[in-house]
Amino acid sequence: MDFKRPDIFRPPSERNSYFLPLTSGCSNNTCTFCAFYGSKLQIRDADDVKREVDVVSLFRRTGTCLPTVPTLAYAVAQDWDGKRMFLQDGDALIYPFRQLREILQYSNERLPHIERIGTYATPQDILRRTQDELRELRELKLLIFYVGVESGDDEVLENVRKGVDRCQIAEAGRKAREAGITLSVTVILGLGGVVGSEKHTLETASILTEIDPDYAGALTLTLVPGTPLYEQWKHDIFHPISPFQSLEELKTIVEESSFSDCFFSSMHASNYLPIRGRLPQDKGRVLMELEQVLEAKDPSLLRPEYLRGL
Ligand code: SF4
Repeated sequence: MDFKRPDIFRPPSERNSYFLPLTSGCSNNTCTFCAFYGSKLQIRDADDVKREVDVVSLFRRTGTCLPTVPTLAYAVAQDWDGKRMFLQDGDALIYPFRQLREILQYSNERLPHIERIGTYATPQDILRRTQDELRELRELKLLIFYVGVESGDDEVLENVRKGVDRCQIAEAGRKAREAGITLSVTVILGLGGVVGSEKHTLETASILTEIDPDYAGALTLTLVPGTPLYEQWKHDIFHPISPFQSLEELKTIVEESSFSDCFFSSMHASNYLPIRGRLPQDKGRVLMELEQVLEAKDPSLLRPEYLRGL
């Protein structure tokens, strides 16, 4: 079957990257809240990936477009400064190790100005790799993993069928950091619903403290039609928290977590209020911003529902 190039679904900080698809879908497609739920994993042929690297290299050196190559590759390459590359898709780290290493070596040779390569990685993907393998990837400039932690509460992780527990997520985080790979993690406000809100929030602050990532981002749960969690909501089984409750959760996470040096943000389009700061330095200022909005309880201060995105 021909490889179908996936839509671009990326972390905000990868906006200037070249998006190189290695896979399509996610190998762990069971998470009940996720747009990748039920997606079919496709692994792209390594030679096909290398051909794309050749095409981009040629385009950058000479501006030549080959008529046989999909225009999307050129559209992505058009404004690229050659410095960052992002491996698609939901968890490109699932790619067979030997071929992944080959592709990274090839990319570094053909695109010598690359400074950083990034990928989404599930905790399972990281745990599957040995420490030496992770170090090898780092040497080849795979310098940042984006990992969905979602929650530190085992009950929530089980309910949403994340496929790993809190201990495994923390272990994966430790392993990546020990290999010298920058870790950017996300957690999801509201994932415990109304009933599980307090425990989800406190346990999430606690796992963030344990992992102590370089970057942590809060997303706000968005119920995606076609996912089991959406159906649970429709059938009155799952009860989402309100926008202001999501800010309460955010405030508690900032208050209760403790980092060595972490850039923390809620800039993602799913959130009702963007905050950002380096923690611990900016903790007081971030908490004050949240308290002001929570006290005012003015909905006009929040991102309107129609502007929220996944
Ligand atoms: S949350 Fe992550 S691991 Fe789960 S289905 Fe979505 S992309 Fe895959």
